[in-house]
Amino acid sequence: MTHPPLPRWLAPAALLTLFHLLPWLQWDGRQALLLDLGARRFDLFGLTLWPQDVGVVLGLLAVLATGLALFTHLLGRLWCGHACPQTLWGTAFAWVEGATRRLLPAAVEPLVRHLLWAAIALWTALTFVGLFTPVGDLLTRATHGALKGWELFWLLFYAVTTWGNAGFLRREVCRTLCPFARFQPLLQDVHTPRMLYLAPRGEPRGPRPAGLGGVQARGRGLLDATTAADYVFRAAHPTLSGSTARFAADRLGDCLDCGACVAACPLALDVRDGPQADCLACGACADACGNVQRKAGFGTSLIRYRRPHAQAGQPWRLLRPRTLILLGLLAALLLLGVWRLLG
Ligand code: SF4
Ligand code: SF4
Repeated sequence: MTHPPLPRWLAPAALLTLFHLLPWLQWDGRQALLLDLGARRFDLFGLTLWPQDVGVVLGLLAVLATGLALFTHLLGRLWCGHACPQTLWGTAFAWVEGATRRLLPAAVEPLVRHLLWAAIALWTALTFVGLFTPVGDLLTRATHGALKGWELFWLLFYAVTTWGNAGFLRREVCRTLCPFARFQPLLQDVHTPRMLYLAPRGEPRGPRPAGLGGVQARGRGLLDATTAADYVFRAAHPTLSGSTARFAADRLGDCLDCGACVAACPLALDVRDGPQADCLACGACADACGNVQRKAGFGTSLIRYRRPHAQAGQPWRLLRPRTLILLGLLAALLLLGVWRLLG
């Protein structure tokens, strides 16, 4: 499976648009999604929940959490890499930073960047607070400078949090703060896809003279898995394995050791060293390598989103112990919900 099958900007752009539209959607003449804590009333697209329905809210949250765990177990960290708010806003802020750095002189760039970041952070905060108080009134009060009390506090709080998380902390949140990231290894097994390097084609890595064809074109073919793993280990641990061997050009694999995959990674991971626990499955490294490989005329990316078992030529199993546990938990929660609704 190549990754991603669609342009990488598509999911973040669609989800950010959806989030900013959410409080403006109407249902039967009311705000479709309004969690009005003051009135103790939640409106969810025509469904109205009152304080006595707190069990329904907790049940919905439990179903969503279990569904996300099952999704991650089956498909890997696609949520982290393409849909988590930290990724969405981090990507948007990084895009603004890239554009201002490219287009503006260094003297004014930081000021313009921070103004743009502040504008996005304030609009995000207004949209978020607009899920808890009627958004039209909120916008009117905000534009007339009439916000006060808790409303003003929460607006500024979420704006500063967005600005700090997306502008400065970015992937540090994923690496060190997010509890879901720490929980991932418990959900994954050898059938869960992750970003993998095709070492039998890529190794041994290294620069080479111009015009040297790829391993298929010049008939070297793929290495066996043990030899490829040995080269990977030597490259990843030069202090343990001693000085790196030099290879004749015709023995080289397709990895040019250009470093484009590491440079593209928001966490500066080198996925060639093996599966990375911190990897968000964002696909930036696979895209970067794909560009390098196509330009070199070698073929497709050396980095793919694959199941480790499939990479090792083993058959895929849909139902594994963790799949059954998560499916059972989800089914139990849904049955409990149906029982409460009918009871
Ligand atoms: S290694 Fe880095 S760039 Fe590649 S998918 Fe993981 S987080 Fe993204
Ligand atoms: S981008 Fe591809 S060719 Fe370049 S170092 Fe990474 S794996 Fe090797």
